[in-house]
Amino acid sequence: MVEVCYNTQAAVDDQHKLVVATHTINRNDRNALSAIALEAKENLKANKFTLLADKGYNNAREIEACQQNDLKTIVAQQELVNSNPKGTTKEYLVDKFKYNKKNDTYTCPEGQTLSTFGTWHIKKRDDKISYQYKKYRTPECKNCPVKYLCTGKAKGGREIERSQYAESVERNNKNYSQNQTLYRKRQK
Ligand code: SF4
Repeated sequence: MVEVCYNTQAAVDDQHKLVVATHTINRNDRNALSAIALEAKENLKANKFTLLADKGYNNAREIEACQQNDLKTIVAQQELVNSNPKGTTKEYLVDKFKYNKKNDTYTCPEGQTLSTFGTWHIKKRDDKISYQYKKYRTPECKNCPVKYLCTGKAKGGREIERSQYAESVERNNKNYSQNQTLYRKRQK
């Protein structure tokens, strides 16, 4: 038996409503953004442009690849969900932790500082593509009165992971939140 799956991608220029790049691939949208965006860039002979894409294209590695090629990404954010009802509550999801670039630390909602040993770990995804991340922790979790809201772990404290693509993702998320009117053009 032979099973063939194809996925057609197209990029449309907002000004003239013209298709500026198109191709057919055998992978899903989550792994498709940079290829079609860079094809559009090449076809347009453009040095830079703003790229709008829906959340189905939200993939950190792809977002970084676009930004490294001078594209301003506005890719809709995936909604953070709590997959474990006995674990982290909404108020303590990772987006409530503030990253401090200067010190390479996070500040948690209770004001404690989570730091890292700086070791890069490798993570494998279902699609076999790995990425690197660092872990951030604080010993203060053991004394925290709201630990039960922050982590479902009986032993140990909360751990935040920061991927090698985090800076690009944060830049994209800022673009997305600051350019909602522009992003809505994607939905028309
Ligand atoms: S459990 Fe730890 S990370 Fe979570 S709020 Fe308390 S001190 Fe902060």
